[in-house]
Amino acid sequence: MKELEERIAREGRVFAGDVLKVDGFLNHQMDPALFRAMAREWRRLFPEEVTKILTVEASGIGLACVAGEEFGCPVLFAKKSRTRNIAGSVYTAPVESYTHGGVYTILCAKEYLLPTDKVLLLDDFLANGNALLGLLDLCAQAGAAVVGAGVAVEKAYQPGGERVRARGVRVEALARIAAMSPDEGVRFC
Ligand code: 5GP
Repeated sequence: MKELEERIAREGRVFAGDVLKVDGFLNHQMDPALFRAMAREWRRLFPEEVTKILTVEASGIGLACVAGEEFGCPVLFAKKSRTRNIAGSVYTAPVESYTHGGVYTILCAKEYLLPTDKVLLLDDFLANGNALLGLLDLCAQAGAAVVGAGVAVEKAYQPGGERVRARGVRVEALARIAAMSPDEGVRFC
C-alpha cells in the first residue's frame, strides 16, 4: 500500500535491535485517516465473511477498531497478563515478546471467541510471528475458523511470515520490508 510505505519512508526511524519506530502515526500517536485507508485495503483483500476481528493489546487495538467498522463486526483484543495461572473461562496462550523480551500470556474470555466465529487476525507488525501464532492458538482452542491475518508492516526478512503461512493462514501485509538498518533506513520488497 503506497500511502503506508510513503509514510514509513518519511517518518519511520530504524533503531538498533531491528525495531522500526513509527510512533508518529501508528504506535503512539495514531492517524485515523490512514487507519481508515488501511482498513479499506484489508476489506478489499479479505472479501470473505468475517464475524470477528482479533488483535492483541495494545498497538493493534486502534487499527483493529477502525477495521471492525469497515468489516461490520466486533473487535476482540487479547489481553496481556503477567499472571501464569488464570482461573475461569478464558483461553490463554504464551507469547514471546519481540520488543520487551521474555514471555507473557495472552488471554481472552471464552464467551467472546466462539466455534461459529470466522476470525480475521490483525496486528501492527509481523516479525518472528509469535504474536500471530499466539492468536492462532486462542482460535484453535475456541474451535473458531481463521479467515486470514492482516498486518500493517511485515518485516519480510524475519521468519514470522513463513511461520504463519506454514500454518495454512493467508497473510496480507500492507507494507513489506526487505531490509532495514539505522544507517540506510528502510528498503521495501
Ligand atoms: P512478532 O511476534 O511477530 O515477533 O512481533 C510482533 C509484535 O512485536 C508486534 O505486535 C509489535 O508490537 C512488535 N514489533 C515487532 N517488530 C517491531 C518493529 O520493528 N517495530 C515496532 N514498533 N514493533 C514491532
